[in-house]
Order: sequence, then structure tokens, then C-alpha cells
Amino acid sequence: MIRVILLDIEGTTCPVDFVSQTLFPFAQKNLNAALMTRSSDAEIDALLQEAIIEWLDDSDPTSKRMLSQTIQKPPSTREVEDYLQHLIQSDRKSTSLKELQGKIWEQGYLSGELISPLFSDVCKQLDSWKCKGITLAVYSSGSIQAQKLLYAHTNEGDITDRFDYWFDTRTGPKLDHQSYTSIAQKLGVQSNQVLFISDHPGECDAARQSGMSTVFCLRASNQHQDPGDHAVAEQLCDIDLEKINTAHNNQR
Ligand SMILES: [Mg+2]
Repeated sequence: MIRVILLDIEGTTCPVDFVSQTLFPFAQKNLNAALMTRSSDAEIDALLQEAIIEWLDDSDPTSKRMLSQTIQKPPSTREVEDYLQHLIQSDRKSTSLKELQGKIWEQGYLSGELISPLFSDVCKQLDSWKCKGITLAVYSSGSIQAQKLLYAHTNEGDITDRFDYWFDTRTGPKLDHQSYTSIAQKLGVQSNQVLFISDHPGECDAARQSGMSTVFCLRASNQHQDPGDHAVAEQLCDIDLEKINTAHNNQR
């Protein structure tokens, strides 16, 4: 019997390209303006200092060359910005950059410039599941803070209250079955009482390996169009919980 539905975000409840085409370009465009507030914003100043520490430790040849060419010691705000833009362009991971992006997104959501678009079937179906007493949870690679921001500022308003649990990759990678086992433990249920919904077949494989039921969410705009052998739903309302529960009982 399914007691918890665990949902991915990008490609499942929200178009994949919102992140790549809207959120990341927004952060890149507003990076300069954000860094310029360092004198009045202690948090930005601390993140800038953190970026400098990461830069001093960065063994990438371009990063090293850029550092050796800085005129100011420690590097100026402008010079740190160039370094951060280099990280963005080369798609490098950086804790300070990730936190700066989170802060820029927060400001964008608060000002109303950023609104996350949900697929039109999502809200209605989440409410219907909640009415049936199902617990809803999020598992996405964006940080929990970013997940909450996204769901607090959707085209259907703040829907954060639909979810009781939030998980990000601090619980573990999304392609690792252990992550799903940990999530079930944290939810206080058996893995086979959880239904995981995602647009990524590898994530569905990992969840199933841990014992969860799975549904592959096939949206027309998604990159992944091959569900493998997972049940498929083009919309969340296509998911038939009774059928999943019956299949479970028959397996016993
Ligand atoms: Mg996804």
C-alpha cells in the first residue's frame, strides 16, 4: 500500500528548461549587481571571501593564470566576478558560486521577476493525493533551499505546504539505490510503501532497486523519452494508485 509519493521536480512537476533557460541565465546576468552589494550585505561579502579561498586552492590552469594576472591582492570584486564567470562557463562546481546563485534567485523570486512554471496537472493532483491521506515528499538535485524557493513562487502560488519532507543530494546521489533506502528510513516507512516519480530512467531504476514503486514521467519537452520497463505517466493524473496497490498485493 502506497503511503508516500516522492517526486522529482525538473521534468516531472516543472519543465526541465526552467532551470537551464531561466534560472541559470538569471543568476549569471545578475551576478555583477549582487557582488556590488558586498559593502552593504555581509552575506554577499562572506561568499566573496569564500570564492577567493576556493580560487587560491583551484588547480585548473585557466583559474591559476587568472589568479596570477590579478592586479589587486586580494583580488578585487571585479576580478572575483571574472573568476566566477569562468566557473559558470566551464560548468564547474563551487560551493560559493552555488550559494551566490541561490541568493540571486531568492531576490528574483521575491521581486516577482522569477516565477516557476508548474505543469498544469500538478497542483490539482497533489491536492487530490493529499486528500486521500498520502504524504508527499520532494527529492531533487537542487538544494532544499532552492526547492522551497521554487515551490514558494509558482504560477499557482506558494505550494510548499503540500510537501512534508524535502530531500536533496545531501541524502545521496539520485542514481544510487542507497539514497532511496535512506529516504524511506527518514520517512519512517518501508521502501515498498513509497512511489517515486521521475523523468529519469536511471533514477527510477535506483528507486526500484531499493524496493520503491516507480512511475516514469514522460513530458513532451523532456530529454529522456525512453521509460525502460517502468510504468509511464504523461501527466500526474494518469497515475492509478489503486492499480499500483493491487499489483503489490498480487506480488505477495
Ligand atoms: Mg528530473
